[in-house]
Amino acid sequence: MAPRTCVLCENFKAILKRPKTGQQICKDCFFYVFETEVHNTITQSNLFAPGDRVAIGASGGKDSTVLAYVLKTLNERYNYGLNLFLLSIDEGITGYRDDSLETVKRNQQQYDMPLKILSYDELYGWTMDAIVSQVGRKNNCTFCGVFRRQALDRGAVMLNVDHIVTGHNADDIAETVLMNIMRGDIARLGRCTSICTQGEDTIKRSKPFKYAYEKEIVMYAYFKKLDYFSTECIYSPDAYRGHARTFLKDLEAARPSAIIDIIHSGEAFEVSEEVKATQKAQQTCKRCGYMSSNELCKACTLLEGLERGMAASGITDRARKKMEAEGPAPENLRTIPFFKLPTGQPAVAIEAPS
Ligand code: SF4
Ligand code: ZN
Repeated sequence: MAPRTCVLCENFKAILKRPKTGQQICKDCFFYVFETEVHNTITQSNLFAPGDRVAIGASGGKDSTVLAYVLKTLNERYNYGLNLFLLSIDEGITGYRDDSLETVKRNQQQYDMPLKILSYDELYGWTMDAIVSQVGRKNNCTFCGVFRRQALDRGAVMLNVDHIVTGHNADDIAETVLMNIMRGDIARLGRCTSICTQGEDTIKRSKPFKYAYEKEIVMYAYFKKLDYFSTECIYSPDAYRGHARTFLKDLEAARPSAIIDIIHSGEAFEVSEEVKATQKAQQTCKRCGYMSSNELCKACTLLEGLERGMAASGITDRARKKMEAEGPAPENLRTIPFFKLPTGQPAVAIEAPS
């Protein structure tokens, strides 16, 4: 049988079947359509303005490595006028993050971008290895996720950037939509499908790969021979997310458009005023100045529990009450440095979470 010809250029031999559309295409057309779709996502959402300082949350994994490469390519091709930086968070996970950070350091050279690494140890006085030795392997990802979110904002302040972009892809977003539905957390749907979010006191954050399929990101990295790190974290990820992931993969196998369809469903949900009212108003953490929905932000609550040897107090109400019964936090408690946005922060459009 004669080799198939690329359905897009009708010139070269098709060497791959595009996971998103099923089209048989050649390598160059795949690069072109993948990059152009990301460019369209960026321009249609007005993500950037010329002169923006943008930090790419870089883990050394496939998503953020491809994101750094594609943003650099598009910035040059379409003259976005962006100053790009790599921002990595070192959670302190021996045998995982230390190795992946070596990849980011090579990416820094390959892509010629300044790199800032901020560690949990530096910011919170705890590595994830130390946290796991205290809390075990059950709630470790809760600590890690809360600490990472703040660490990214704080690293961005240190870089004096206007905007953080992350490598979250369409599969991640569809998974989060499913998880929020499965947990009955409908009020969060609007926020998780927004391409760009900004709390009142945090730095603008966006996901340029919102519509990019994970399989295509892997293909892109493979055919471009990008240098990335593919080992999974040694501490098992959220088991509940695993169910959503398996379910999504099954749906995708039956109908590839399921991923985009779920994102569109999440976007189209009308959240009633009654449900919106269940979301707490934002305030500022009285201890560290970070955005919070309570007097103390989640990171300060978790850190206090760790420091007082009662790590579960940030997880369950019962443990929290037990810690409160022991009296207020001691004066010499280790805390997170006070959070301040860089001065001269430009006004940016706020996409309110629904
Ligand atoms: Fe952190 Fe959990 Fe992810 Fe490991 S799997 S990096 S512990 S959030
Ligand atoms: Zn705080």
